Amino acid sequence: MRRPCTRFISPVFFSFIQDETVSLLRLVLEVYMPELPEVETFRSYFKQFALNRVVVAISIQDERIIAGTGTEKIWKYCMNRQFVEAERYGKYLLAETEEGACLVFHFGMTGYLVSAIHQAHLPVHTRFVIHFHDNTLLGFVNQRLFGRVTICASPSEFIQVKKLGPDAMAVSIDEFATVLKSSSGAIKTVLMDQHRIAGIGNLYSDEALFQTGIHPSARADTLDSSKVAFLYDTVRRILGESIACNADFSALPADYLVNNRNRNAVCPRCGTRLCTDKIGGRTAYFCAKCQS
Ligand SMILES: [Zn+2]
Repeated sequence: MRRPCTRFISPVFFSFIQDETVSLLRLVLEVYMPELPEVETFRSYFKQFALNRVVVAISIQDERIIAGTGTEKIWKYCMNRQFVEAERYGKYLLAETEEGACLVFHFGMTGYLVSAIHQAHLPVHTRFVIHFHDNTLLGFVNQRLFGRVTICASPSEFIQVKKLGPDAMAVSIDEFATVLKSSSGAIKTVLMDQHRIAGIGNLYSDEALFQTGIHPSARADTLDSSKVAFLYDTVRRILGESIACNADFSALPADYLVNNRNRNAVCPRCGTRLCTDKIGGRTAYFCAKCQS
């Protein structure tokens, strides 16, 4: 049974407003960075509304969304093609055409996808629109313009060019342990480093460290093997749980940190006031009593 959440509103509601003209992936307009589970929901959305339809036009409302790529390249690889598969790697959505090229979405902050029948129904901050042969549209909404759309020859090429680490849902325990053992930085920073492990950001690194009792500033290479294994299992379990509920945080347990992230909140486990600190350029939430 779904539990109403009074403390935190999930950024993503994977519920569609279905009428004759528009389907929307609803999103509460707050500042957040889509992480692996959110991008997984976008992948499902893309598969539902964009696969196996011929691209007949692409309109770009703001050239900054394709910075470094150029319209000609996007048209060359996408026009009159179909997307036959949608994959996720880390925080990226890779939409493959039948010839193997990929249109890559990075959602930045506040990015999401919207399917519609009429362009007038797309949100005001839609930056990039794919027009399909069946008169449907897929819009990439990105209010803050930190997101990007680009083209690559294949998923493997993209991963190589971006120097991404193994995906957080596919990384092995040995790879995970090696990453941590070779890193003298703060464990939170290491978890968020996409070149080491791809897909984890601020929210899920905080959650995993909270649930394992590890202080976010602890040196990654000082964790013993049992802590590393516990963290590995916890990261993957939390990501899996979030994917299963389409990144709707209100569907996650009330004692998860993600449902208690505000400056006046107390630790859901011990009642101590939660702390914040800047770690790896992001605001970490943690309990100084439960995490050491
Ligand atoms: Zn606590």
